[in-house]
Amino acid sequence: MRHVAVIGSGPAGYYTAEALDRKFGGPDAGGVRVDIIDRLPVPFGLIRSGVAPDHQSIKAVSRRYEAVALGETVRFAGNVSVGTNVTVAELLDLYDAVVLATGAPLDKPLGIAGDDLPGVIGSAAFVGWYNGHPDHARLDPPLDAAAACVIGNGNVALDVARILAKTREEFAGSDIVGHALEALAESRIARVTLVGRRGPHQIAMTPKELGELGHLARAAPRVDPADLPPAAADAALEPGTRKSVGHLRAFAAASADRPVTIDFDFFARPVEIEGADRVERLIVERTRPLADGGAEGTGETYAIPCGLVVSCIGYRTPPIPGIPYDERLGRFANTDGRVMPGLYAVGWARRGPTGTIGTNRPDGYMIADLIAEDLSGASGKPGGAGLDALLAERGVETVTFRDWQRIEAAEAARARDGAPREKFVHVAEMLAARHD
Ligand code: NAP
Repeated sequence: MRHVAVIGSGPAGYYTAEALDRKFGGPDAGGVRVDIIDRLPVPFGLIRSGVAPDHQSIKAVSRRYEAVALGETVRFAGNVSVGTNVTVAELLDLYDAVVLATGAPLDKPLGIAGDDLPGVIGSAAFVGWYNGHPDHARLDPPLDAAAACVIGNGNVALDVARILAKTREEFAGSDIVGHALEALAESRIARVTLVGRRGPHQIAMTPKELGELGHLARAAPRVDPADLPPAAADAALEPGTRKSVGHLRAFAAASADRPVTIDFDFFARPVEIEGADRVERLIVERTRPLADGGAEGTGETYAIPCGLVVSCIGYRTPPIPGIPYDERLGRFANTDGRVMPGLYAVGWARRGPTGTIGTNRPDGYMIADLIAEDLSGASGKPGGAGLDALLAERGVETVTFRDWQRIEAAEAARARDGAPREKFVHVAEMLAARHD
């Protein structure tokens, strides 16, 4: 029997467990036991806390992870914090292989003057707030000014702009948490500016997600036609980007007269955030496109008045002391997933914060192949029994998948009409609900 610990219960963690089960789970394959460890009492990482609450169809993939979790091979050990309750070194002693599937929950810093002013928020915190992540449930973002800036031209920036622009009714059927729904319903924000340092051809927004902006109840996207390159140049784009740019062209052609606008401000590089006690304006430098797809500053600056700045410029994996880390790329240093003997990284912790949920599937299967290559046979390590003994000694209350199912049922029972769940947003509430 092989014993594998996977740290992190998001998509990368569950796909890795599924792959290990398929590889070693058969009658002649020798067997495997996989413990998925998570510091929260609730599983599914980015599916629960990152995917937008109004994108329920994407969240449905958690049913696939549930099937893995309910099998013989895989166990969920929630409420166990690696680094606090148990160290990676201890896990390496207990298990034949340890997989870091910790995602990238930290914001890449903006690194400009004023980025520490109240009202400047990273997307990890803002998204975590409206999704009810316990770390960010108390964020209370300022929504009292007429304008907000959202920095970045990727899908996270789109999510944030859309959430800021929607009416209460448009959240019907979503699992946005009550505190965010109430705060957004009172929001005075009437203008959301999406700030991109390069141009329309360089956006990282996917067509389906960008197209949604054209179908909002009270808000409309606005694109300055002068920012768009000649239409003939779109032919050189990769098909997805070409489709996205098609949406931008349609937005530029439409005449938007709506109470809320989402303004695309291209060729605008943030250089400073100003305000007396809180953010009052974002200063950007006008850029011009370069032939290689880059952009250079023109020296011309202007101010965008705003009471909230959400920076959606990418994420980083938190380092763990003693584990090789690539500072520049913001992820564990690894060679195709191998970090150290017995230690692997998968998903965003391996390759950085790119790709869709589905990209983590081949990643998980690749790591299972590496583990199979590296493990010569059963080592006699204690695996989960050893972890249980250690955690019991330390008085750590582990949350099982069955416990999670009780928490999940309690969240469903208290949902608003038409909503799939009302999440518990504090760890103590989650722990209490498992006894329901
Ligand atoms: P992303 O796609 O990498 O986009 C980051 C954006 O931030 C880019 O436009 C980038 O511009 C800009 N940026 C980076 N550093 C900057 C700086 N210092 N100043 C100004 N702008 C800066 O990242 P993301 O939006 O965080 O998304 C992460 C991943 O999750 C992506 O693969 C995304 O597709 C995926 N995702 C998917 C969905 C969905 O499918 N519904 C939803 C959310 C996220 P440059 O291009 O100039 O660097």
